[in-house]
This record gives sequence, C-alpha cells and structure tokens, in this order.
Amino acid sequence: MDPAKRASVGVRSDNRLEEQVKDWLRYGEDLGLGPYYRDRAPLHAIAEATAAPLESQSAAASSNMPVAAAMAAAAPGRAPGAPINVAPSSASQKAASAAAMKTPPAAPASTILPAATSPSLFEAMERIAGDTLQRIREDIGDCTRCKLHKARTNIVFGVGNPKAELVFVGEGPGRDEDLKGEPFVGRAGKLLTQMIEAMGLRREDVYIANVVKCRPPENRLPEKDEISTCSPFLMRQLDVIKPKVICCLGSCSSQTLLQTTQGISKFRGEWFDFRGAKLIATYHPAYLLRNPPAKSEVWKDLQKVMAYLGLQPKKR
Ligand code: SF4
Repeated sequence: MDPAKRASVGVRSDNRLEEQVKDWLRYGEDLGLGPYYRDRAPLHAIAEATAAPLESQSAAASSNMPVAAAMAAAAPGRAPGAPINVAPSSASQKAASAAAMKTPPAAPASTILPAATSPSLFEAMERIAGDTLQRIREDIGDCTRCKLHKARTNIVFGVGNPKAELVFVGEGPGRDEDLKGEPFVGRAGKLLTQMIEAMGLRREDVYIANVVKCRPPENRLPEKDEISTCSPFLMRQLDVIKPKVICCLGSCSSQTLLQTTQGISKFRGEWFDFRGAKLIATYHPAYLLRNPPAKSEVWKDLQKVMAYLGLQPKKR
C-alpha cells in the first residue's frame, strides 16, 4: 500500500476509534457516570482530549433527549421505542441483584482506618498504677462533669466479672438502664444476654460498660464533649479489667475507642489492637431489634471472638 493510502486508512481508523470512544463517553454521561470515569487515572487522557466537544454534545443530548431515550438509543439490539427493562430477567440475575441489595459493598482495605501518625488519645493515656474499679467509681462520685448529669436517675457504671476476658462496650444508658443503674437491661440488653449465652458464656462471665455513664436525653447519641469528658473512666475500667477482647457495640463506642469517624460498616468484624487487647466492632443490639437480618453478620463477628477466646457455642 502506498504511503498516502496507508495514511488515509490510518486517519479513517483513528476517526472511527475516536467516534467509538466518544459514543461510550456520551453513553456514560447519559447514565450519570461522567464524574466516575473522568476521575479514573487511565482514562484521564481520553477525557481531557475529548472534554470540550463532549461536554457540548452531552449538554445538547441531556437537554434534548431524555435519559431513557438515550439509553434506548445506545442499547445494542433494542428496537426503537421498545420498553427499557431494568429488572433482572434471569433467576441468576435476580439472585445476584438481591444479594447486592442485601450485602453492603466491602470497603477497600486502603480506606480502613489509616495508620495513625501519633499515639491516639487513649493509647497515649497513662495507666494509673494501683487503680481499681472501686476507686474509679469513687472518683466518678455524684458526677456533674458534663451536662448529662442533669436528667439522669442513676449513674450506670458497669457490671460483670472484674477479671473478664471479654468486655462489651455500648454507647450509653437508655431509659431502663437509667432507672435500674445497670447497663443493657432493656430489650436490647435481653438480646445482648442471649448473644452472650449463645457464645457459651453467662452474662456474669463478661463485663459490660458504656462510653458515657449517664443517659442522654431521649436516647440521643452522646455528644462529643460528653464523650470526651466521660470516656476516660471507661479507659480506666478497661485498664483495670485487662480483657483479652473488647467488643464494641455500635458506632459510638467503636468510633470512640478507635478514634475514627468512619461508619461502623467500614470496619465491623475487623480486629484491631487496643492497649494490649484485641478490639472488634459489631452492630448494637438495638440496631438488631430494628433490623433482624443483621443478626447473621453479628453472629459471624461473635464467632471470631469465640475462636480467639477458645469458646464453644452453647449446646441446645
Ligand atoms: Fe459525669 Fe459521665 Fe455522667 Fe457526664 S456522663 S455526668 S461525665 S458520669
């Protein structure tokens, strides 16, 4: 082939390729995926090369053509005007779709709790020599250190085996706990007791405490200042008990101990080192009362704890 002809064929195939790339980018824009693929590094060059014409074409497309029509036009093999079927058609597609709806997407490992560059507040907190649970309770006294004292009936210190290998940590007392002065005694508490028994333990074998010792009004989440004022007492309790495993129940306790703002679903079921203990976070029993299907996830987390502590499940 003479050089002029080869050059002309090359230009035609370049133009076809460019048109195909533009078609795909336009299709993605119509689906609302523009920001997604524009941010992908390998496509950056393409996006930059085609950005100006594309944006004007895309604007024209989005103003003149409804998304459904654009999808219909872009869908291979679809007759013009045919209805767009977005529901999974085959049994396997339906199963995959149902699984995707039920299963939250796994967090990429790199997004989980980036390594701290300095000791966390609690890692840096010094242990108090000769501390005891009784001394901590005496130090709390009739506490008015934060605003939660105003509406409380009882300070809910904590309960259980002072030498427990396993400590459960919740966020704060609810109404029943406030009235009784004991953590996890309401409906969520009964479920926690069942979970403990399913692990082959009795409630009195473990220790149960909260991040804050007084009930937040209307069962709201404890606020930052309340957590920072009260949580050092929890740290002292953990230092005295020296459990092998700390199981955080819900976002508040896990975010407090791990010093993170990430949602619990990002790190639930993962092991962390915490002041000489292993720490694992799972969903709060109150959440399980509202969302029973999540019990299976919690059971998986508790099984990890059982394996670590060498526990056998309760025989039925
Ligand atoms: Fe004191 Fe803690 Fe109660 Fe606040 S929540 S008043 S710091 S015991």
